[in-house]
Amino acid sequence: MSDYGKIFVISAPSGTGKTTIAKKIKELSKDIEVITTCTTRKPRPGETDGNDYRFITLMKFKEMIEKGEFAEWALVYDNYYGTPKKDIISAINKGKKALLIIDTQGGRSIKSIFSEAVLIGILPPSVEEQERRIRKRSGLSEAEIKKRLESAKEERKVILSEYDHRFINKNLEKTIKKIATVIERSG
Ligand code: ADP
Ligand code: 5GP
Repeated sequence: MSDYGKIFVISAPSGTGKTTIAKKIKELSKDIEVITTCTTRKPRPGETDGNDYRFITLMKFKEMIEKGEFAEWALVYDNYYGTPKKDIISAINKGKKALLIIDTQGGRSIKSIFSEAVLIGILPPSVEEQERRIRKRSGLSEAEIKKRLESAKEERKVILSEYDHRFINKNLEKTIKKIATVIERSG
């Protein structure tokens, strides 16, 4: 059972900085394996298959659901995302800490299967700053930005009420340090 303590989940509303933070944390420790998840969404400019995500078709995604290959899966902003079970097990069997960068629906599901998993939530300093960061990062349409800001309200609620650790990502370097410390000390 104690092996399950080696699963860490990071969730944050869109634009908070979770992707940036996870990349840095991965560089800081050889003990951490960031699990590449599957998605049916199209790659954004600069994203590569197998690195950012495994970009798969809806048909393949549904096949993986039927075969029970996901530890959890969810519909997020109209696309499907799922964490392959075998990749979590494989990381743990190698003695690594498995780090999942998934939404709060996923975090909740992982905690219900692996009760010792550590849920880490990150929040933006304000909604205004979150919106600035979303706009800085990508060429999303106004409707897509609105959807992300809207679903941030629910993500925030879940993070505040169900997550084991919560951080506000104001200063990037400080946030990275705090999260790296939590991961280093747990599991
Ligand atoms: P997420 O994965 O949570 O949607 P990203 O990691 O893509 O967010 O970050 C969104 C944008 O915000 C990026 O341009 C990133 O460089 C920037 N960013 C991340 N953390 C901070 C911070 N603490 N202060 C200012 N900008 C930040
Ligand atoms: P994006 O499309 O912006 O990369 O990610 C959208 C959201 O889906 C983010 O909150 C991201 O963390 C989440 N996500 C990525 N992979 C998974 C997954 O396998 N499962 C779940 N539940 N969420 C995921």
